[in-house]
Amino acid sequence: MAQELRPRTFRRVNELLAEAYGEKHRVPGDPLDSLIRTILSQNTTDRNSIPAFEALKQRFPDWEDALEAGPAQIEKPIEPAGLAPTKSKRIYNILDQLAAERGELSLDHVCEMEPDAACQYLSRFKGVGPKTAAIVLLFDCGMPFFPVDTHVHRVSGRLGWIPEDASAEKAYDILTDAIPADLHFQLHLNMVQHGRETCHPSRPECHECVISRFCDAYRNGDVEPREG
Ligand code: SF4
Repeated sequence: MAQELRPRTFRRVNELLAEAYGEKHRVPGDPLDSLIRTILSQNTTDRNSIPAFEALKQRFPDWEDALEAGPAQIEKPIEPAGLAPTKSKRIYNILDQLAAERGELSLDHVCEMEPDAACQYLSRFKGVGPKTAAIVLLFDCGMPFFPVDTHVHRVSGRLGWIPEDASAEKAYDILTDAIPADLHFQLHLNMVQHGRETCHPSRPECHECVISRFCDAYRNGDVEPREG
């Protein structure tokens, strides 16, 4: 059962994770670049999607050139990210829609919108769900969203911050509402790192975990930790 969510718990967990994994400072980037990078990251790892984005930018330093070239030309450099035929069409459609609606290939205006309106605006694009929108709006616009990837989903479930059967979408709603906005950026990144390095899907390293005293699964014996 999910525990009562208190701001001071989130603040203490944020402090402990920052001591373990380092403070994180937001450096706003270009929202359109970020949206395309995030589309490439869907259903794959950073190891595959980052080189794909770099290859795409190298081939098309200006998005206008990618729009002119068309989806077949976008597809080649993004092959390392997988699902290239689908992702290339999605990228092309976003560029095409922006050109038709705004006459320029930029998403800078979303950072001036109200958060909910900005999320709805980005979610209109095919292939852009709430998680992808939340990543762009948190990282590039500093808006109060708490994206839930597989690591955040697992760690928050074990901590007891969400019900056991909560979907990623439900977890996103709960955590975005409950976690103080000023913690969103750093806590998100450090929970991802915690999930990658310590709170593994199986045999988590609970003996090294700096937040074990806040963890329901550890307290209740619901995880089988790696032996210390
Ligand atoms: S105590 Fe174990 S299961 Fe709980 S958050 Fe830490 S590593 Fe994960």
